[in-house]
Amino acid sequence: MSYRCRWPKRALKQYPTIGDPCAQKILLFTGTAPILALDSNGLRGLVRLGYTDEKKNYGATYRAAQEALAGQTGTDCAWLVEVHQLLRRHGQELCRRTEPACRVCPLLRNCDFGQVATGASQPAS
Ligand code: SF4
Repeated sequence: MSYRCRWPKRALKQYPTIGDPCAQKILLFTGTAPILALDSNGLRGLVRLGYTDEKKNYGATYRAAQEALAGQTGTDCAWLVEVHQLLRRHGQELCRRTEPACRVCPLLRNCDFGQVATGASQPAS
């Protein structure tokens, strides 16, 4: 996160139930800061696609996914909102927490998780 959005993020987090992911979404959706904010559906897809491993907790996994994409996401808030929404929808409709629809997912060819889930390849030992 850039220097220019530290203050608003800190201010937002003073409200109950607003943590980093929520504060980042507010900053992104208001066009205040070009952050690739993620929701849990989007994060799950990125983990399964191999952008990061599951870490010791949600916050660590969230930060690791953002770091993996740092420098590749640009600074256009409108585009980042679209990315957020597409990742969210992908996680809700295809890359579901249980019973992901890997067989019809357009990303299957590039997804080790999906390859194993569909039996197209064996898990790495
Ligand atoms: S192939 Fe399966 S696990 Fe991989 S991104 Fe698609 S739905 Fe998710």
